[in-house]
Amino acid sequence: MSLTTKIQWCDSTVNPTMGCEGCELWTPRVKKCYAGMLHTRFGGVTKGYSPRFEELTFWPGRMAETAGWPDLTGTKRKDKPWLDGLPRLVFVSDMSDALSAAVPFDFLEEQVVRTATSADGQRHQWLWLTKRPERMAELGAVLKAKNIAWPDNLWAGTSITTQATTARIKNLLRTGGSETIRFLSVEPQQGPVDLSPWLPDLDWVIQGGESGRGARQFQLPWALDMIRQCREAGVPYFLKQLGSVVFSGGRRLFFKDNHAGDWSEWPTEIRVRQMPHTGPAGGPGVGDPAGAVAAAPAPVGPRVPLVVIEPPSNRREAALKAWETRRRKEQAKKRAEAARKAWETRRDNDRKRTRSEAAKRAWKTRRGQ
Ligand code: SF4
Repeated sequence: MSLTTKIQWCDSTVNPTMGCEGCELWTPRVKKCYAGMLHTRFGGVTKGYSPRFEELTFWPGRMAETAGWPDLTGTKRKDKPWLDGLPRLVFVSDMSDALSAAVPFDFLEEQVVRTATSADGQRHQWLWLTKRPERMAELGAVLKAKNIAWPDNLWAGTSITTQATTARIKNLLRTGGSETIRFLSVEPQQGPVDLSPWLPDLDWVIQGGESGRGARQFQLPWALDMIRQCREAGVPYFLKQLGSVVFSGGRRLFFKDNHAGDWSEWPTEIRVRQMPHTGPAGGPGVGDPAGAVAAAPAPVGPRVPLVVIEPPSNRREAALKAWETRRRKEQAKKRAEAARKAWETRRDNDRKRTRSEAAKRAWKTRRGQ
């Protein structure tokens, strides 16, 4: 749990469980999950982590403690102006998937649902993200059977990374009630994704590219396309980061921020960070006609052009190539020169021989006379 976070779309984080049963980002062969990587480093060493990432551990009380943190409604955020005025937004489960099969629904009801509806918890918005929306929907059904409504301040979200993983969305749409905010985190995006079939039923889309060592590439046109899709469907959109390896039109783009998450470095057309409506009419959270918070005030100033900087390694490679070309040309020139000289030598020798033979013949002729 953390009172503050660098994650751009929330204020705080909390983990009622630690560890996870994995997904496409964490398998015996793939090790791309940030939470998994942190566990590999700190698990069994630092308090608060699972001994191994694959081993789920339970942390009752963390949610309740988080609920006691100050209400942020109406306040300005120094570094996240798109959250200005909103209640505290708490990302639930950034170091785990609390809907892993090993986590009983009773635990989730007690820790997550009851905290969100507690007097303290109601002051905040809880953004619960999972790769197991089928279990989230099932939890909703279990609660319904007990006459417990899904809390309006408990947002239901699922993560997708490719078009194939959009299969998760249908279960997300079965979660919660008429007031539930359902959102997608399309991160780390690994290919073009068409969300148009589901957008009319979604309330918010977050998008981002992969960051860190070995990050897979993010194509800038994917952001433009997602912005277009969301705009056409009237769904609030939030571009979190472009990631560490960004391409556009076959060229790699470089940014000072190594996650490319500083939107002042982006071209204006992708500087979109909208939040879904979360407040009363006329209150915080009411923005454009789509119900989104008006696009957060993008950094003012002239349009930032996409500057393509050749990194030093590329410059070195280019210089090496040029040197190699020059060297080859010089060698070819030298070879041609040597061949020309050899030919001239042969030609001179032939001439000398011809002259000498002619002289010999002439001498013999003279002698015979
Ligand atoms: S489900 Fe979430 S926490 Fe679990 S491995 Fe995948 S990305 Fe990591």
